[in-house]
Amino acid sequence: MADQLVLVINSGSSSLKFQLVDPVSGVSRDGGKVQQIGEPSSRAADHEEALRLAFEQMAESGIDLKSCGLVAVGHRVVHGGKHFYHPTLLDDDTIAELDKLSELAPLHNPPAIRGIKVARKLLPDVAHIAVFDTAFFHDLPAAAATYAINRELAQRWEIRRYGFHGTSHRYVSEQVAGFLDRPLDRLNQIILHLGNGDSASAIAGGRPVETSMGLTPLEGLVMGTRSGDVDPGVISYLWRRAKMSVDEIESMLNHQSGVWGLAGENDFRRLRQMIESDDGSAQLAYDVFIHRLRKYIGAYLAVLGHTDVLTFTAGVGENAAEVRRDALAGLQELGIVVDESRNFSDDKGARRISSDDSRITVLVLPTNEELAIARDCVALLAEL
Ligand code: AMP
Repeated sequence: MADQLVLVINSGSSSLKFQLVDPVSGVSRDGGKVQQIGEPSSRAADHEEALRLAFEQMAESGIDLKSCGLVAVGHRVVHGGKHFYHPTLLDDDTIAELDKLSELAPLHNPPAIRGIKVARKLLPDVAHIAVFDTAFFHDLPAAAATYAINRELAQRWEIRRYGFHGTSHRYVSEQVAGFLDRPLDRLNQIILHLGNGDSASAIAGGRPVETSMGLTPLEGLVMGTRSGDVDPGVISYLWRRAKMSVDEIESMLNHQSGVWGLAGENDFRRLRQMIESDDGSAQLAYDVFIHRLRKYIGAYLAVLGHTDVLTFTAGVGENAAEVRRDALAGLQELGIVVDESRNFSDDKGARRISSDDSRITVLVLPTNEELAIARDCVALLAEL
């Protein structure tokens, strides 16, 4: 049988990431990222040019999208709102519905929709499918999904905790079950997705019961440039006192906060070097990041009651052994013991880093959102 390939596109406001994935073998045939779209220094003035550059790169690698067996283009869409929580075939009507959701996710959905529109224009003969970052958390228990704010207002404006990074949390939770050779529905898991954006989830028997992001991907852990949890009072205070506009405050919380806001750097490799050269703000940023992470781990141990396995994933989670050590230091009374040499080994791929006598297993497991999206696409095509 000829290969079936899926082109996965993740279109952000100023970048477009792409990967051509074989959903069966999991092999990525080609991929890359076009950055700084629209900036004077960029090779791409807009998303259409960015996608054309991606096609050029693939052509240079010898890939002809017309004849390589492309069956679908999978689009990562951040916010699915109340109604989109299955992979969805994109046509003019569904795109119009998605357009409406931009009100709920003004920072995230418009660039994805731009990506969808140009991809449909440039590749009109294949199926285009949206996969939503919120989907996995659609059925969060009401107690976890509900903000304790005025109920009528929340209903009218569809305010709830939606959760994000769902594709990653779902994929990793399934891989954990495979790695441990245990049924997913018998495992209670905590997953820490630590990358540029950071989120935690508690998953009981394959079903998410808590996650750290909320109405938007701003809530929860301290992130690369996002604040995570702040007292909502900070927002009205800045508005009133510093005379900042809502847009300015939102932008500050999303783009100039988090580890970057405290240290002027959000790459954990650089942050480590700064700490080693006694940079006090880098140390504080790191301490605040770790403190918040530990708070969430403690909370999720309590939410689950019994935890079998805790897993680190994404850029920081997979690579920064110090973060893993510091997040879990001194938790033996809670059943977690990390093995120092396993944690600091150079191994890549799925691996156990807890000691053999740790009641809770601790893993590092690489996420692969593109593969998960590609598999969702072919599963949907098979149903049609
Ligand atoms: P992601 O969003 O999953 O792509 O993660 C990106 C982040 O991972 C970067 O901003 C870095 O902070 C972090 N990262 C990537 N590689 C390493 C590494 N070798 N050591 C520490 N942090 C890393």
